[in-house]
Amino acid sequence: MDYSVIIIGSGPAGLSSAVYSARAGKSTLVIEKEYEGTGQIALSSQVDNYLGYHGISGYDLGEHFREHALALGVEIKTATVTSIAKADDGFEVRIKVRKKEEVLKAENIVYAAGAKHRLLGVEGEAEFAGKGVSYCATCDGSFFKGKNVAVVGGGDTALDDALYMSSLASQVYLIHRRDTFRGSFTALEKLKKRENVKIITPAQFVAIKGKERLESIELNTGEEIELDGVFIAVGMVPETDLLADLVERDDMGYIKAGEDCRTSAPAIYVAGDVRSKALRQVVTAVADGANAINSLLTDEK
Ligand code: NAP
Repeated sequence: MDYSVIIIGSGPAGLSSAVYSARAGKSTLVIEKEYEGTGQIALSSQVDNYLGYHGISGYDLGEHFREHALALGVEIKTATVTSIAKADDGFEVRIKVRKKEEVLKAENIVYAAGAKHRLLGVEGEAEFAGKGVSYCATCDGSFFKGKNVAVVGGGDTALDDALYMSSLASQVYLIHRRDTFRGSFTALEKLKKRENVKIITPAQFVAIKGKERLESIELNTGEEIELDGVFIAVGMVPETDLLADLVERDDMGYIKAGEDCRTSAPAIYVAGDVRSKALRQVVTAVADGANAINSLLTDEK
């Protein structure tokens, strides 16, 4: 057996479970797809709700998590997991490192692969991706200094992105399909006070238009707005296809598991945003990591 525990995903959930696993004396491998900071949190310009780190950038918080895991002897490997299969004595995790395939064996799996950006699904979105359409304000925002941009969505990501862009862009339009926002009240109040932010609700995109690059957007209100960039922040889709044949998922594709992070399959645990739950935050991801390993240790007794 190569490892006692293979953890898939190096965000807060994955690294928290790695810390608990290593401290329990388990040989622990974390597999991450690519290193761009630790998971989605790396894209948050500021995290104000993780206890003890008021105002830290998401990237820096993730780096603290990573250093903590490494200091305890956790191994982290950059690779793409292509399949996870049940074997007689545990699991076979097939990975690809560049073009080379490898098979690793583990007694237990902690699945913490997070989620990917949901597409808006409008005409022009794919055509202008990277040519004005972005899914990450923290990554691409600086390209739009002094320009006009729109942010679409009504959750915390959209509000954070609109706030961040209002400090860089000349004009920011926050466009949401409903009149009420599911994101934080405080962030929305801040946005309402920014002179260069215009909130447009309820409105939906009909098309993203341009020639070489994005030039304008058309809304279902009949309005057409000339723009340099659009930041799409309409939520995430869980990355759970790898476990489709092994565990139960809910209607939205999240892996069914309670607070104990036990899935429907023995020795497969789930942590973080891929789990069916009410609140997806760093603090709940970190808690999942601890609970997953606690369940694993209890099940081994
Ligand atoms: P989210 O909370 O799921 O919000 C997605 C937003 O996109 C919703 O307002 C939704 O509209 C809208 N939307 C979805 N599909 C759409 C479509 N096809 N067209 C137009 N609008 C569409 O996603 P999120 O903002 O990425 O946040 C994900 C989780 O991370 C949340 O739990 C959030 O609290 C957390 N988060 C926290 C922070 C922080 O604390 N600083 C920062 C970022 C994210 P409806 O409202 O109409 O459904």
